[in-house]
Amino acid sequence: MSDQRRSIPITRPFLGHEEVIEAEAAILSGWLTQGSRVAAFEEEFARFVGAPHACAVSSCTAALHLALHALGVGPGDEVVTVSHTFIATANAARLCGARPVFVDIDPRTFNMDPTLLERAITPRTRAILPVHQIGLPCDLESILDIARRHQLPVVEDAACAIGGEVLVNGEWARIGRPHGVVACFSFHPRKVITTGEGGMLTTRDPQLDRRFRRLRQHAMSLPDTVRHASRTVVFEEYPEMGFNYRMTDLQAAVGLAQLRRLPGLLEERIRQALRYSRGLREIRGLRAPFVPCHARPNYQSYAVEVTPDYPLSRDQLMQHLLDQGVSTRRGIMNVHQEPAYEGLGPYHLPCSEAARDSSILLPLFPGMTDEDGDFVLRELNRFR
Ligand SMILES: *Cc1c(COP(=O)(O)O)cnc(C)c1O
Repeated sequence: MSDQRRSIPITRPFLGHEEVIEAEAAILSGWLTQGSRVAAFEEEFARFVGAPHACAVSSCTAALHLALHALGVGPGDEVVTVSHTFIATANAARLCGARPVFVDIDPRTFNMDPTLLERAITPRTRAILPVHQIGLPCDLESILDIARRHQLPVVEDAACAIGGEVLVNGEWARIGRPHGVVACFSFHPRKVITTGEGGMLTTRDPQLDRRFRRLRQHAMSLPDTVRHASRTVVFEEYPEMGFNYRMTDLQAAVGLAQLRRLPGLLEERIRQALRYSRGLREIRGLRAPFVPCHARPNYQSYAVEVTPDYPLSRDQLMQHLLDQGVSTRRGIMNVHQEPAYEGLGPYHLPCSEAARDSSILLPLFPGMTDEDGDFVLRELNRFR
C-alpha cells in the first residue's frame, strides 16, 4: 500500500449494482429503445427538478439543438451565449445554421456577465443561451429581465447543473424548474449523474414539449410505442423533417437508478467542496470558487483560480500535482479560441481568456476519500 503510487482521478461516475439490476431488466424485457423506461425516467426527472414537462434525448447537445430548432432558430439568426463553455453550447447554434454571438463572463463567477448582454442583442437575435457553468447557476434573474424586455426566449444550458438551485424573484428553485423557456441537461459520465450518454429538456410549455417529442423521433406522427399497442392497423406519417435523438430504455434504466442516488451524490459533492474551500483559505494565491448570493451550486466541478501571488504558474502546478498522482484539468475552454471558430469573430473576450488560462479543476467525486482530499490540499500548500 505505502509504495503503491497514489492515483486520484479528476472524476469518476458513481454506479453500482442497482444500475446493473435496472439495465438487466431492460435487456430482458425485449424493448431496448425509447419506451416505458424512458417515460418513467422523464417523469421522475420532472418531479425532481419541479418541471411540468421533461423530454429525454440522446445527449445535451441534441437537447440544445432541438430546443433552438423548435424555437425557430435558423440560418441568418444569432444566438447570444458565452464562449467560456464546452464547445457543444455554441455548436448547437451552428447546427441550426445560426451564428453564436459571445458575451464575456463575470470574472468572479465565470458565468455570463449580464451587464454585457444587452449590447450583444441585435435585430437578428433569436434566442439567449446562458450556461450554468460547472453547476454554478448563472445570474438568471438579470438575464431573464433583459430577455423579457427584448421578447427573446431563454434556453438554459444546464448540462452540468442538475440539483443546483437559483434564487429568482426571492424564491429558491432547482435549475430546470423552468425559468427560461427550456433547460437542457446532460447525463455524460463527467456530469453529476450519468446514463453513458443522454440528455433532457424541461419546459413548462406543453406545445413545445409535444414538438420536442415529435422531432426527437423523425417527426413521426405515431410513435412506435403507440403502433405496437394498437389493436387496429395504423400508419404513421412524417409531416416535417425530424431527427433521431432518442434515448434508449437501457440508458433510462440506468438513469432511474442514478436519480434515486442523486440527493446523496449532491450532498457528498457539497461536503467535499466545502472541505476544499476551507483548506484553500490557508493558501495564499489560490482562490476558491466564488458563490454569489443567488446561487447554490452542485459542484459538478471544483474550479480554483491560480493568481499571480501563487509561487507556481498554473501549468507548473498542474504538472506538480500530476507528478504526485493527482489528475487535474485546466479551466473551462473558450469556444472562440478553437480552430473551428476561427474567422467567425471579431471577438473581444478578455475575461473568458483569462479564466481559461488561470484556473484548474481539482478532483472531486462521490467515492473520493477525505484522505485523498487532504492530500490534494497538502500538495497545494507545499509552496509557501
Ligand atoms: C457537457 C456539456 C454539454 C454537452 O453535453 P453532452 O451530453 O455531452 O452532449 C453542453 N454544454 C455544457 C456546458 C457541458 O458541460
